[in-house]
Amino acid sequence: MRAIPLGTSSGKPTLKRNVSALALVREAEWLLFDCGEGTQTQIARAGLSPNRLSAVFITHLHGDHFNGLPGLLSTMGLDQRTRELKLTGPHGIREYKETLERLRVAFVTYPIELAEFRSLPELTVVYESPDYTVSACQLDHRLFALGYRIDERPKPGRFDVERARSLNVPEGPAWGRLQAGEDEQLQDGRVIHPAQVLGPERPGKSVAYCLDTRPCAASLELARGVDLLIHESTYTEEFAEEAREYGHSTAAQAACTARDAGAGRLLLTHFSSRFPDATSLLEEAHAIFPNTVLAEDLAEIEV
Ligand SMILES: [Zn+2]
Ligand SMILES: [Zn+2]
Repeated sequence: MRAIPLGTSSGKPTLKRNVSALALVREAEWLLFDCGEGTQTQIARAGLSPNRLSAVFITHLHGDHFNGLPGLLSTMGLDQRTRELKLTGPHGIREYKETLERLRVAFVTYPIELAEFRSLPELTVVYESPDYTVSACQLDHRLFALGYRIDERPKPGRFDVERARSLNVPEGPAWGRLQAGEDEQLQDGRVIHPAQVLGPERPGKSVAYCLDTRPCAASLELARGVDLLIHESTYTEEFAEEAREYGHSTAAQAACTARDAGAGRLLLTHFSSRFPDATSLLEEAHAIFPNTVLAEDLAEIEV
């Protein structure tokens, strides 16, 4: 999995940073978290195909997190998308989408399956695929905001070629069937079980996306043991009072969440435009959680 920040500025874009959006890219598809204005241009810059976009997850209805939807939805219509798109977000997003269509602002020709939530106090699965789940939980912002977490399902263990040979399993389709988890009957009548030729199951990766929020129990829960925590850090501690008032986090608070949740790595994003150089945010977080990196637009992170 790769995480590509498409926008890392809070409130309004700057010449170096677009507003919030992040792509989580898997082998054949990708997911979009938030869709600030100009996201579709960033998608093109990142070399991502909108046709491979499976689902969009909006955190909350502040403009810097969803103003890019009409353009992106329309472009996919112009590109003759036929594949269904899943759209998840807070209550109000259905009315927004229907209004865009009624006013002919958005040109949507493909099915959109929409899920919206008015309240989500507990971590709940909101999207599933054969390979992973996406869960959501409400954060603590000025208005209802959702945080998200993606968990890959465990992968089967690696195929042990030596072991298969020593059991005289013929190379070819039989190996494939065992790899796929099926028993295999050999010509001599013996039955080989997948566990005999596969290594231990490999745990899947996990990523949490917590924007915008004050520090809260829900972000800790979302970030519990994740490989990568993507967390807003709008301010430094110097502006802690402002952060609290506007429902945001400081870099130090994001780092405390990463540390207390046992996250593997922390990616800071959603920087106030008062920090044209975000080094002070990085230094502040680093002192608490050393494995911290600053998100830069289009700078990809391997999970
Ligand atoms: Zn924001
Ligand atoms: Zn906000």
